[in-house]
Amino acid sequence: MVKVLPETIKRLLTKPFTIQYPKRKPRIPENFRGRHIYHKELCIFCRLCEINCPNDAIKVDKEKKTWEVDLGRCIFCQVCQEVCPTKPKAVKLSKAYELADSEKKNFILRF
Ligand code: SF4
Ligand code: SF4
Repeated sequence: MVKVLPETIKRLLTKPFTIQYPKRKPRIPENFRGRHIYHKELCIFCRLCEINCPNDAIKVDKEKKTWEVDLGRCIFCQVCQEVCPTKPKAVKLSKAYELADSEKKNFILRF
């Protein structure tokens, strides 16, 4: 008890390491990799994002001109953004991190 007392007092006088989320939002770093932003008008349906995705999270249909990503499979590696050849990029990872949902189907973003 005597041994831990100085540490306890020290911790009481210092700022907490945690924040009161969701009341307070964390500071998101510049290079954070969150939910995708997809611009259909820029996409050339080359399928490079789909082919290079390491977790088969992207489906591109060139005929139907559809693009989808399954956030439940995505590991947010950003490879899809890196290989996208358009300028500006048709797919980018954003800073959006609040992705929790109780329905599995809601993790699939269809465009
Ligand atoms: S971030 Fe990575 S895992 Fe997620 S869709 Fe893009 S390439 Fe696939
Ligand atoms: S790599 Fe870019 S341009 Fe090609 S299909 Fe994916 S999002 Fe579209």
